[in-house]
Amino acid sequence: MVGRLDLERYKATIKGLTKFGDRRQGTDRNRAALDWIEAQLKSYGCTNTERIQYEYTPPAGRGGRGAGAAGAGRGGQSQILGPGGARRRGFRVPESVNNDPMKQPDEKLRELNSHPSTPGLREEVYCTKIGSTHPEEMYIVAGHMDGIGWGEAANDDGSGTALVMELARVFSSPDVQTERSIRFALWNNEETGLNGARAYVAQRKDLQGKESPAGSGKYPEPKWLGMIQHDMMMFDHGMPRKDGTMSKEQRPEADVNIEYQMTSKFADEAMLLAHKFQLANEKYATDYPANIGPHMTNTDSTPFQDLVPALSLRECERGSQIGNGWDPHHHQPTDVFATFTDDDFRLGLNAAQTTLSAIAQLTGAKLATVQASAGN
Ligand SMILES: [Zn+2]
Repeated sequence: MVGRLDLERYKATIKGLTKFGDRRQGTDRNRAALDWIEAQLKSYGCTNTERIQYEYTPPAGRGGRGAGAAGAGRGGQSQILGPGGARRRGFRVPESVNNDPMKQPDEKLRELNSHPSTPGLREEVYCTKIGSTHPEEMYIVAGHMDGIGWGEAANDDGSGTALVMELARVFSSPDVQTERSIRFALWNNEETGLNGARAYVAQRKDLQGKESPAGSGKYPEPKWLGMIQHDMMMFDHGMPRKDGTMSKEQRPEADVNIEYQMTSKFADEAMLLAHKFQLANEKYATDYPANIGPHMTNTDSTPFQDLVPALSLRECERGSQIGNGWDPHHHQPTDVFATFTDDDFRLGLNAAQTTLSAIAQLTGAKLATVQASAGN
């Protein structure tokens, strides 16, 4: 099954997502991207797609997250504790969010990204692989489809969205059977404060494991066994240098970072789950290893972490590394497909191999044996 993932397909899915610009929530380009994702999922055979609806109004007095330059003026080594309780070390470049259209040099892309976000109804899509013997239990495999920054949101989070879509494709193949269910979810409104994932939790947590209608064998919301988020999967060029510049190359020792939150209610269970992912990576990922950290933060698995074991997979640790400026394209106009090389895309592919193999083991996946064909 892992062999059914490949670099060119993964890149093509990311490329498809970048046609919708930065996919900012509450815009036409965000809604068009959602329609496209849903059509793709259906074309893969993940036909039972559903949408969650919720209302979103930005808090008064600010234009959404990143209205100012987060972290500006706080440079240097003064702040030891980073996001999520991580320990900051080494050289640090403060992070910011680009809200200036003129910083996007590509005029066509600037135009594509110009439709403004308006408050109101929001939607997000998921589809489900139904378990053959335990349809009432599931793992949630997720990424966020919205972005910001006036680029193409290729890495944040086209890379995670494409990973989830590619897994939906492989698991939906008619010759793949799983004992337990898997839900593939693409959250909206991550960039405004995880509002899409929070809406899902609020609307559906009490429906878990209930058969409906009674006696039908159908479970609209199977019981959650774990939630695995994928957010920024490609860029691991190391620490910024002393002068603030970065290596142009993916570092050879790049890794997939699996994080859980040690202060969450399910910390011990999530830690064990993280190790299962690391072992799956060791066995099935072709190029890059995986490492585990205890400070998962700023991602859609957060609303789940006190209800179920929750993990986040990322190119770097969110608190100590992204928080120290290891990804200079984060929320910037340079987060476009053309910025990344095959060594970058391959890190995302290795994360896909990691989650696919771990989830296949956890859900008891089997490939149907190909019958010796008598008909031809
Ligand atoms: Zn993100």
